[in-house]
Amino acid sequence: MIEFEAPKPILMLNTALETVAVNMMRPKSRYFDEHEHEIPWDYINFMHMAMRQTGAGSLAPSEKKPKEGESPKEKRPPIGYQQLAYMLERLSWGDCGMYLVTPGGGLGAAAVEAAGTPEQKEKFLARFRGEKPVFGAMAMTEPQAGSDTAAIRSTAVLDPNTSEWVLNGEKIFVTAGHKSLCESEGFVVVWATIDPTAGRAGMRAFVIPAGTPGVTVTKLEHKLGIRVSDTASIVLQDARVPYDHLLGSAEVVKEPTTKGFKGAMATFDATRPLVAATAVGVARAALEELKSILEKQGVVIRYGIPRQKMTNLEREVIDMEVMLRSAWLLVIKAVWMADNKRANSKEASMSKVRAGDIVTKITQRAVELLGPLGYSREYLIEKWFRDAKISDIYEGTGQINRLIVARNILGYTGRELR
Ligand SMILES: Cc1cc2nc3c(=O)[nH]c(=O)nc-3n(C[C@H](O)[C@H](O)[C@H](O)COP(=O)(O)OP(=O)(O)OC[C@H]3O[C@@H](n4cnc5c(N)ncnc54)[C@H](O)[C@@H]3O)c2cc1C
Repeated sequence: MIEFEAPKPILMLNTALETVAVNMMRPKSRYFDEHEHEIPWDYINFMHMAMRQTGAGSLAPSEKKPKEGESPKEKRPPIGYQQLAYMLERLSWGDCGMYLVTPGGGLGAAAVEAAGTPEQKEKFLARFRGEKPVFGAMAMTEPQAGSDTAAIRSTAVLDPNTSEWVLNGEKIFVTAGHKSLCESEGFVVVWATIDPTAGRAGMRAFVIPAGTPGVTVTKLEHKLGIRVSDTASIVLQDARVPYDHLLGSAEVVKEPTTKGFKGAMATFDATRPLVAATAVGVARAALEELKSILEKQGVVIRYGIPRQKMTNLEREVIDMEVMLRSAWLLVIKAVWMADNKRANSKEASMSKVRAGDIVTKITQRAVELLGPLGYSREYLIEKWFRDAKISDIYEGTGQINRLIVARNILGYTGRELR
């Protein structure tokens, strides 16, 4: 049965995260929006310390290590996707750009979780539990390959003499790419092909740690929104990594197999509902702020009266609340399925489509309904309007996720419906 009520431990954590959102994120939102590429170390260091103390380690689903003195029997439960969804919604309500710089494995760890062997998970994810904050990232997109991930051209060739993989290529728009490679001892999971003629069957994921010779961050994007989050271009020039940095079992190395591609899709099935959760957080922030500003102007939304007696403004606000809640229910369903190891590709995409839609609509309408106040930098509404759009772009655009939903419902393959 799907639980609609958040379990107690999640509710307690929510309260702590709300405190972080109110006291550490909101007061700095405007500053880091206006000082793009400055790094909010106070927030990063605080979150790293707090997550270590609570045993969370990283904002990634994982088996928590028992604390010192805990017997294996008392081993603490994993951070599930449901818990993560709540956490990310709260933090994104605070500032979704700043949430993206929360230390931890991010998309990189999610890829290791989805495609790595148990040994690789242990080996690569341990670094996020250390004393210093460490970041992870995932690089799929290339100048000629965005939505069509099978079109990637970065190559990985096995050197038979050293058993190392040699990677070449260019990756663009890598979230936290700079922090993973230049500001911490993190890694980027790079998707490359071991056979450029094989399309999807040639795709494999490689863990490229910070400090790997031949890996250069060449650019940081200047962006519309989420400006505190670094978005990097990375060039790989004869970058060498050990054999076991290819994620997955030995079988994955054999050709041809679409296991590598399926690993990429499994990563997205896990993370799309989480992106949707961040979108819901931004939408909730905008809606609450809208109502609060209206209230200060003497306009209080009257709930529970017949719709025909409502003002147009009241109807609009209530419709926005319906949008917000419907998106959240889709998120909860998708993460519940992920936690219960059920195939959730359709639900993950549905949640992302809906949340991407509603966050753009709600933030835009909030700007409009407040008139000049909505457009002014006095309030954060205009910032959330700019931050919102990314939810509908990364990890599969709205159009691509609609295609995935349609394929699932109609029973078409990717080749049959594109
Ligand atoms: C801030 C930011 C952070 C990012 N972070 C990462 C990251 O960490 N790692 C990473 O690998 N990538 C990242 N990306 C890249 C992102 O995933 C891609 O931008 C996205 O997948 C779309 O690819 P594209 O930009 O090449 O657009 P295209 O694929 O060229 O698409 C352009 C437009 O055409 C539409 N379209 C394309 N194909 C179809 C189709 N078959 N049917 C209907 N419409 C279609 C798209 O929806 C879109 O509207 C990031 C992007 C941004 C902006």
